[in-house]
Amino acid sequence: MADAEVIVIGSGIGGLVAASLLARYGKSVVVCESHVLPGGAAHGFSRRGFHFDAGPSFFCGLGEGPSLNPLRQVLDALEMSLETIAYDPLGEYHFPDGTFPVYCDRDRYHDEIARVTPNGAAEYRQLERRLGKLYKGMRQIPTLALRSDWQAIPFLAQHYPASLLKLLPIAGLTQKTVGEIMDTCVRNSWVRRTVNLECFLLSGLKAYGTIAPEMAFMYGERHHAKVDYPRGGSAAIVQALVKGLEKWGGELRLRTHVEKILVESGQVTGVRLRNGETLKASIVISNATIWDTYRKLLSSHHLPPAYRKEALELPRLNSFMHLYLGIRAQGLEDLRGHHVVVLDNTMDINVPGNTCMVSIPTVWDPSLAPEGYHGIHCYTLEPYKSWKLDAQYEERKQRRSQSLYRALDKIIPGIRDRIEFEMVGTPITHERFLRRYQGTYGPGIPPIQGIFPLNQTPVSGLYRVGDTTMPGIGVPAVAASGILCANSLVSPQQTWQLLQDVGLA
Ligand SMILES: Cc1cc2nc3c(=O)[nH]c(=O)nc-3n(C[C@H](O)[C@H](O)[C@H](O)COP(=O)(O)OP(=O)(O)OC[C@H]3O[C@@H](n4cnc5c(N)ncnc54)[C@H](O)[C@@H]3O)c2cc1C
Repeated sequence: MADAEVIVIGSGIGGLVAASLLARYGKSVVVCESHVLPGGAAHGFSRRGFHFDAGPSFFCGLGEGPSLNPLRQVLDALEMSLETIAYDPLGEYHFPDGTFPVYCDRDRYHDEIARVTPNGAAEYRQLERRLGKLYKGMRQIPTLALRSDWQAIPFLAQHYPASLLKLLPIAGLTQKTVGEIMDTCVRNSWVRRTVNLECFLLSGLKAYGTIAPEMAFMYGERHHAKVDYPRGGSAAIVQALVKGLEKWGGELRLRTHVEKILVESGQVTGVRLRNGETLKASIVISNATIWDTYRKLLSSHHLPPAYRKEALELPRLNSFMHLYLGIRAQGLEDLRGHHVVVLDNTMDINVPGNTCMVSIPTVWDPSLAPEGYHGIHCYTLEPYKSWKLDAQYEERKQRRSQSLYRALDKIIPGIRDRIEFEMVGTPITHERFLRRYQGTYGPGIPPIQGIFPLNQTPVSGLYRVGDTTMPGIGVPAVAASGILCANSLVSPQQTWQLLQDVGLA
C-alpha cells in the first residue's frame, strides 16, 4: 500500500509549487521537510521581535494587476491570494562614483540614466527594445501551460497555435545571452556595467553568462507589473502555498528529514526517513539540489555513471556571508528598501565581498520590526571552501562580515551605533539551514556550457524541481520548475481544464 501517490522531498518554493499543483490536480501528496520551518531559501524567521526574510525579498507581480509571474498563476490555481505592498523606486545602486536610483517606471528610469549619460540612455533604450520583443513573446503563453515532457509541443500546437507562430520570429533571440545582445547596441561603459550588475543580481553571472529571456522577463515585469512585497515577508508566500497545498488535500510534514530515496529495479518505491520510517510512493520529487539528491539521497548505483558524473560536475555558484540586523530607525525616514553596493570599481563585481545586496523590508512593512526599528538583511557572495567549524570560526565570521558593514555604512553612516540586534551567517549557516550542498546559491551555468537539467531523471518515477532544474535560480524560476514537473505528471486535458478554471485558456 502506498502512503501517497507523490512524495516531495523539501518545501522550497519549487517543491511547494509542484506539490500544491499536484494536490490541485487531485493527487495525494506528502511533502517531507527536514527543517522546522517551510520555504527553504524563502523561509522567514523571527528573533527578538524582528522578522527576517532568510533570502529573497525582491518580487514582481504577486498582487493585483497584470503579471507574468508563474507563482501568481499557481496561487490563482490554488485559489489563494497575497496581500502585497507596491513600491517605486525599487531601490538604489551605490557605485564608488555615485548613487543611482532605480525606478520601475520606465520613463523615470530612462531619465535617471540620461542624467548620468544621455548617449548611454539612448543605447539602453535600444537594448530594452530588443529584450522587449522577447518579453512580448513570453506573454503569448502562460507558464501554467508548460510541461517538460514530449507532450509540451503538441499541447501548445493544439491550444496556442497562433501564439506559437508569433514566437517563431524571436526563436533565435531566446538562445542569445544578454551580453551578445548588448554588444549589438550598447557601447557606453556606464550602461554596460549597470547591465552586468543587473544580470549578476539575477543569475549570479554577468551579461555573457545570463540568457536573454531571463533578463527580458525581469526588465519586462519590472516595468509592466508592479514591483511588490508580500505583507509579512517571503514567509507569507510560503504560507499561502502551504495553505493551498492543504486546502487541496496535500500534507506537509516538518522536521522530516529524508535519508534515502528507495529504488527497486530502476523504479522509485518511496523514501526512508532519518527516524527509520519508510514512506511508499511510486513518484518521488526531490527539491534538494542536484548535488544533494545524487550525492546523498540516491545511491550511486541507481544512476548511469556518466550521467551522474556530468550531473555532479554542474558548475556551482559561491555561498554567502549574511548579516541580519535590527537597528534604531530614528532619522531614517527617507530610507529606501533595496540597495546594491559595489565597494571597489577596480575589482570585478563578482569578487566575493565586492558587491553587497541590502534589503530593508521594514521600509514597506513596518510590522516586521518593533515600532521605531528597522530590520536589515545584507549579504554578499563567499566561497565555501575556507570555512570550517574550528577555533577560528568566530573570529573569521567577524572578519569576513566587515565588507557588509562597509557597504551598510554607505547607506546609513554610523550604522554600528544604531544596532539592537546582530546575527552573522556564513556558508556553513547557509548549508545547515537550507540543507544545500556547500551552501551554494545554485548552479552557475554559462549558456555556452549547456542548459539547466529538466525535471526528469534516469530513474523511473524520480523527478527533481527547484533551482538546479530548468529554468534556474529565483522565485519565479523555481515556481516555473514546479509547474513544469507537476504538468508532466498529469494529462494535457487536466492542464487544459486547470487553465480554463484559472481564466488563462
Ligand atoms: C540570499 C538570497 C537572496 C535571494 N534573493 C532573491 C530575490 O530577491 N528574488 C528572487 O526571486 N530570488 C531570490 N533568491 C533565489 C531564490 O530564493 C531561490 O532560487 C529559491 O527560493 C530556491 O528554491 P528551491 O525550490 O530551489 O528550494 P530551496 O529553497 O533550496 O529549498 C529546498 C528545501 O528542501 C529541503 N531539503 C533538502 N534536503 C532535504 C532532505 N533530505 N529531506 C527533507 N528536506 C530536505 C530544505 O530544507 C529546503 O527547505 C535569493 C536566494 C538567496 C539565497
